[in-house]
Amino acid sequence: MEERSMGDRNSGDAKNFNWPWPDVPAATLLKKARAVAERAYAPYSKFKVGAALLMADGSIVLGCNVENSSYSMTICAERSAIAGMISIGHLDPVAIAVAGGKSSTPCPPCGACRQVLAEFNPDMQVVLESPNRIIVMTVNELLPLSFSLTERK
Ligand SMILES: [Zn+2]
Repeated sequence: MEERSMGDRNSGDAKNFNWPWPDVPAATLLKKARAVAERAYAPYSKFKVGAALLMADGSIVLGCNVENSSYSMTICAERSAIAGMISIGHLDPVAIAVAGGKSSTPCPPCGACRQVLAEFNPDMQVVLESPNRIIVMTVNELLPLSFSLTERK
């Protein structure tokens, strides 16, 4: 796995990784993910996660984790954002930022969420926090050979 760093994680400077959306810097997307994590419903784990999904047209869909007393019914922030995306008629996510737990620790999508993200765009950029930098990887890098009913290139 290759980590691409951008130095100051709050700078919004994308010179060290491919980020073709200058109107929404990776740091901005991450900030939105961090903010929406505060709305998470996580009374059991207390582990609040937020996700900010960037669409090709520049719009952003937010999601947070929603736990349940029947633990397996819990939905992650990433899948919550994907559900929101579908419900407002979008099908073209290009990037997702995920933030949860301690702000300096990466909160990568779980295996189930990686598969769900791959359904909509295996080349989607995934933005994660890390001490003093932002990590950007594609869904393909996080989940090589994801399951698909159709042949992938
Ligand atoms: Zn997940």
